[in-house]
Amino acid sequence: MITIKKSKSGIGLKQAVEKLSGVDLSVCLQCRKCSAGCPVAKIAKTRPSEIMRRLHLGAGNELLESDLVWTCVSCETCSARCPMGIDVAGVMDALRKLALETGASKQEGNVPLFNKAFLKTVEMFGRTYEIAMIGAYKLGTGKLMNDTEKFPTMLKKGKISLIPSFGGDRKTVRRIFKKTKQNKGAGK
Ligand code: SF4
Ligand code: SF4
Repeated sequence: MITIKKSKSGIGLKQAVEKLSGVDLSVCLQCRKCSAGCPVAKIAKTRPSEIMRRLHLGAGNELLESDLVWTCVSCETCSARCPMGIDVAGVMDALRKLALETGASKQEGNVPLFNKAFLKTVEMFGRTYEIAMIGAYKLGTGKLMNDTEKFPTMLKKGKISLIPSFGGDRKTVRRIFKKTKQNKGAGK
């Protein structure tokens, strides 16, 4: 686990993000190409280029509460578009990790529930299994009948399957989950 210094200058956060993501924040040109391509920039209050700038200028832990930290869908468009080759999506990953570790996490609505349901099915089946994920998510929300009318169409179009796919490398995936849990327990 990385400890972020509670300094007003926010230097600790910048260093922690650079360490986790391997990104040198000082090379950002502020061209905003990352923000122009970001699919969630229109609905979020913050944009990826703004996150980059604020980090570089020494923002403190309040940045971990930015809504983009949890609305980001990890599509990596920002990283692909960056003329400086900056892994902006990696920066977002680092911010999410630090937000959870520091308790600054402000996951909106059912986001944590969805993340948990998604990860559980990946751990169990080696890849996502939509029916199990939807079931776990709906049980968690208590809204079992929401959107059920879409189910037959999705099934017909092959968007979801009744049978899980066992084509993935389940052993490797389980090993990753096990190692992650061990690291978490050891406070690394
Ligand atoms: S695209 Fe790259 S250089 Fe441009 S603002 Fe975003 S991070 Fe900075
Ligand atoms: S990875 Fe996140 S921040 Fe980057 S473009 Fe996709 S949604 Fe936006």
